[in-house]
Amino acid sequence: MEQKDDLLKEVISHAKEYGFVFPSSEIYDGLSATYDYGQLGSELKNNIKSYWWKSMVQMHENIVGIDAAIFMHPSTWKASGHVDAFNDPLIDNKDSKKRYRADVLIEEHIEKIRQKANKEVEKGRKKFGDSFDEEQFRATNPNVLRNTNKIADIEERMRQSLGANDLVAVKQLIEDLEIACPISGSKNWTDVRQFNLMFSTELGSVAGDASTIYLRPETAQGIFVNFLNVQKSGRMKVPFGIAQIGKAFRNEIIARQFIFRMREFEQMEMQFFVRPGEEMKWYDYWKDHRLKWHSSLGLGQENYRFHDHIKLAHYANAACDIEFNFPMGFKELEGIHSRTDFDLKQHEALSGRKLQYFDPEINQNYVPYVIETSIGLDRMFLAIMSSSLKKEQLEDGSERVVLNLPPALSPYKVAVMPLTKKDGLPEKAREIINELKFDFTCQYDEKDSIGKRYRRQDAIGTPFSVTVDHQTLEDGSVTVRDRDTMEQKRVSIEELHQILRKRTDIGQLLKSLQK
Ligand code: ATP
Repeated sequence: MEQKDDLLKEVISHAKEYGFVFPSSEIYDGLSATYDYGQLGSELKNNIKSYWWKSMVQMHENIVGIDAAIFMHPSTWKASGHVDAFNDPLIDNKDSKKRYRADVLIEEHIEKIRQKANKEVEKGRKKFGDSFDEEQFRATNPNVLRNTNKIADIEERMRQSLGANDLVAVKQLIEDLEIACPISGSKNWTDVRQFNLMFSTELGSVAGDASTIYLRPETAQGIFVNFLNVQKSGRMKVPFGIAQIGKAFRNEIIARQFIFRMREFEQMEMQFFVRPGEEMKWYDYWKDHRLKWHSSLGLGQENYRFHDHIKLAHYANAACDIEFNFPMGFKELEGIHSRTDFDLKQHEALSGRKLQYFDPEINQNYVPYVIETSIGLDRMFLAIMSSSLKKEQLEDGSERVVLNLPPALSPYKVAVMPLTKKDGLPEKAREIINELKFDFTCQYDEKDSIGKRYRRQDAIGTPFSVTVDHQTLEDGSVTVRDRDTMEQKRVSIEELHQILRKRTDIGQLLKSLQK
């Protein structure tokens, strides 16, 4: 589509214009970084949830799903480390008064250096043509080498200073790298401070510390505290997983970039409980499986990459992100974390309850290790919207805006349109919808010319449009138009069900995961 910078703006305005995403409480000028999903957005969101849920729960006999409360006993967050350590290092620019995450400023600086190195590589590719050996070029070109070493140095300093919670060293790094505020251009920074991201509120009418509760900052803990309930009631055997979809809340320092970073968002998380010592095998399995899930949607293989964490969270012994090429560049879409037995052990310590599993195969009791897959539903929504929105030049010189959504996720699977508003055509169109609506989301549209109606369906990503004309009344045939190819075919009404099913069924996506 447009330049990358403009693409995000295009996505935001398209999402609003067609009823996907609205700024929250807009009549009061909105609330920063809070959004509401509209009539089409909620359909798309539900379809993403459904594909994720089915791929986890329905496709794995050893994974079950739960729906835990948002409020949890305050000790949960003490145990998980969120009360003491769920902080972001923040820094303010004294001139622009803008607040930033110190680690993000440094990461963005690293990305700039990486882009420089990549540019150099592209130059080499152009120069040497077919004989170009990228690996060798990266290992020998002095400019690329210098930048690669620079990145390694910065990453190491960042790992050490953040790891040791040495905020003075983090500030020093920002100063040494001469990072300037993108707004004011100045390097006039405050000290780096820690800021807790949890929202707190009071339970009932009693004030005071004892009644402080938090809005959950992740859905994972609802799974951990229910580990034994599910294991016992479901007679689950390790390895097994518990999945959950739900809201999470974080008082993000900088919430921007549309639905990418919000203070209220939704997560789809799965905790997979394994025998200690086997976690790396499962970590690799889930990395692979999750990438497959993404690939099945056809958003473009080149839009994904793995990023290993430099600084591991206090609970992890391995962690990576699946990053997606958003309009703002490659950013985290999903996290895959090997969380060890940290959470369950912490809950044992604070609750005084045993959270162990007796493994009959090795005749041993243990606290299982955990591999987590955690994806932001809103980020997935943005990934899909931004990579699907296209402006196409047509052969006749005109232009069309099309949302190439994966057909299984499209809000409407089919639009049924009478060619004219008379001669019984509307009635016939509704008759067809009344047949299809049990299995497919359908839209009836009779306003404007057929061409205009097709464009409207293209813009909301409806994979098929069916036109009812006078011939339909004679021989029961209709025209089916394909959103992507714009090809039109005459088929009989009886064939519609099968045509739609073939392209829009989530089952087809699920099957592709088994390959
Ligand atoms: P980031 O580094 O971008 O803040 P994170 O590493 O804190 O993210 P996790 O704690 O791993 O994120 O959360 C798992 C997933 O939840 C992320 O991969 C992301 O998709 C989603 N997520 C986290 N924070 C937000 C947010 N503020 N808004 C929307 N989605 C979010």
